[in-house]
This record gives sequence, structure tokens and C-alpha cells, in this order.
Amino acid sequence: MSAQGLLIALTKGRILEEVLPLLEKAGIIPAEDISKSRKLIFDSNIEGVRLMVLRGSDVPTYVELGCADIGIAGKDVIMETGSSGFYEPLDLKLATCRLMTARPVAQNKSPKRMRVASKFVNIAKAYFSEKGQQVDIIKLNGALELAPIMGLADCIVDIVDTGKTLKANGLEPEELIAEISTRVIVNKAAMKLKHAQIQDLLMRLQKAVN
Ligand code: AMP
Repeated sequence: MSAQGLLIALTKGRILEEVLPLLEKAGIIPAEDISKSRKLIFDSNIEGVRLMVLRGSDVPTYVELGCADIGIAGKDVIMETGSSGFYEPLDLKLATCRLMTARPVAQNKSPKRMRVASKFVNIAKAYFSEKGQQVDIIKLNGALELAPIMGLADCIVDIVDTGKTLKANGLEPEELIAEISTRVIVNKAAMKLKHAQIQDLLMRLQKAVN
């Protein structure tokens, strides 16, 4: 938990672009243009409320360990951490997409033991193990669609929005693993000790979502 005020960890990139207008609607405005600055931490128009811009996968870590009071991150990243070390009180319903398995269109038969490439290795592991299917998981960090084309994997677990990226690479979505959207997470100690301040912020955000 940050010592004073509220420190909010934001996810940079696509989520930030969608979240900043929502924060503004909720009455929270960065003191300077985040997109034009190389700084990583910003004051806001509200006394004591600061914003920090991080890689999505680092947001849950900062919140769980209490370096940030509040985090805004994709459900995919939150699921991948597998942590219950924070609360997840609000769905901002932004940057919505689906986490799916996908495979080559022409592939008609699965091998006995599939090789699955993904950035989300924990989610993939949990998903196939729940189905009782033994698979080998291969961790990749990007351009997942290449893995089946190059024979590195039989299928992938990836984010699908319009499905155009899959289609352009000869893949098709198969099974839905989870509906994804941007969530607010809150450090557990901060929720107790800064209750009024955090509830006020959550209410403003909830109103802005509605
Ligand atoms: P699409 O071609 O519209 O299905 O977009 C798929 C690609 O865009 C994925 O491989 C992701 O890298 C990225 N993408 C789309 N939506 C999101 C999102 N909400 N969060 C993170 N990445 C996304």
C-alpha cells in the first residue's frame, strides 16, 4: 500500500487509450499528457491521487505487493497471474476481446498429444488440465500465429478480437476460454485502510462505465 494518497497503476498501450477518457469522465485527469511524456508517474487534478503507467503484466504485481493501491489491467493478465492477492471489484468493460484456442483451418486431425503455444502459459495449462487433456505448452512472447505455420505448435491460445489476425494467417478460432475486459483491482490492505477514498473512486468509475 502506498504511504499517502492513492496510487493507481495503469496498463500502457491499448488499455491506456481507452481508460484515460473513462478516468476523465470519472473526474480524474492527469496533470500532464501521459501519451506525450516519457515519465512513468504522474500527478492528477485530485490532490493525493497519482497515476503510474506500467506494462500490463506488471500491474497485478504492483497491486498485490502494495506498491500501488489500485490497478487497471486486462482480465487476461489478471488470470495469468493466478493470484488471489487483491480484490477485483469492477469491470470497466473496455478493451473487450476473447481468449481462445485457435488452429490451422486445414488441420483435420489433432495429434495425440498437442503442442500449444501461448503467452498465457498458466491459463493454457489450467484450461487443458481441466479438460483432462495432456498437452505440451510452449511459451512464446508474440506473433503466436506463426507457431502453427512453422510447425512449432499444433494450436495456440491467444486473444481474439475481430478474428482478422487469425484469418490472415490461415487460422481459425476454436474454443472460448474466457471473455476478457479491463478490470479494476485493489490491494487488500489499501481496501481496508483507505476504504472511503477507494470506494469514492470506485463509485466514480462505476458511474462513468454506466
Ligand atoms: P483481431 O485481429 O482483431 O482478432 O486482433 C487480434 C490481435 O490483437 C491479438 O493477437 C492481440 O495481440 C491484439 N488484441 C486485440 N484486442 C486486444 C485486447 N483487448 N487486449 C490485448 N490485445 C488485443
